[in-house]
Amino acid sequence: MQVVIVTGASRGIGAATAKLLGRNQAAVVVNYRTGAQQANEVVADIEAAGGKAIAVQGDVGTEADVMHMFAECDRLFGPLTGLVNNAGIVGAEKRRIETVSFDTIMTLMRVNVAGALLCAREAVKRMSPKHGGRGGAIVNVSSLGAITGSPKAFIDYAASKGAMDTMTIGLAAEVADRGIRVNAVRPGLIDTDIHASAGLPDRVERFGPQMPMKRAGTAEEVAEAIVWLLSDKASYVTGEFIGVTGGAR
Ligand code: NAP
Repeated sequence: MQVVIVTGASRGIGAATAKLLGRNQAAVVVNYRTGAQQANEVVADIEAAGGKAIAVQGDVGTEADVMHMFAECDRLFGPLTGLVNNAGIVGAEKRRIETVSFDTIMTLMRVNVAGALLCAREAVKRMSPKHGGRGGAIVNVSSLGAITGSPKAFIDYAASKGAMDTMTIGLAAEVADRGIRVNAVRPGLIDTDIHASAGLPDRVERFGPQMPMKRAGTAEEVAEAIVWLLSDKASYVTGEFIGVTGGAR
């Protein structure tokens, strides 16, 4: 049975990924930071589909919370086979470099970069045969912004996703001989609440029609790529990036 931790799974891409894993009868840790009710609804959906699930509150940018989340997974579901580093933030509003605060930068890096590294560390400890594990797969949810740099809007966010991409390349090489695969998806414009959180509630409406496919993507479309990368169907794929961008570059 797949045992997978999905960070930031109360909404958006994380929730869609957790639900799709549930349909494959996986055991899923549904991590969330504030949305307890939404996380519980994701758990109920997974259980209804025949999977197992538990909601675990925790901030991925806080080491004690990450340790607790992995300990809960060990206790309830046993050996971890997958991690989806999905939890991520953009910041409260569109900005240029002149207006970025130190706090905004540090919060972004703590959640998006340190959070992903901490979770990867704990996952490798459990998956590596050196520590008694049986291999596994890690999928990082990066962004097209890692390539474009998101000028005049979110370059600090884009830089955090660039760091995630570098981690994907390095960690994939570091653990390839331990049966652990590490890959990433780079979503483009996806219809989730993240845009409203960034003060741009109409972003999908405004920019969707300008995409090559004339629409934004859905969380479910990104989840399909993530779940494939987690699965044995991707058994010889590591250190790779799948763009889920509808053709945007
Ligand atoms: P979303 O709808 O805003 O959902 C974000 C999720 O992350 C929520 O479940 C939230 O939990 C959780 N979260 C936020 N901070 C957290 C923290 N410190 N610790 C644990 N969980 C935390 O976002 P989304 O659009 O699904 O984005 C998911 C990932 O895709 C992010 O990494 C994002 O950068 C990336 N991405 C998204 C797009 C897009 O267009 N949507 C494009 C490129 C990349 P609570 O609600 O419970 O607080």
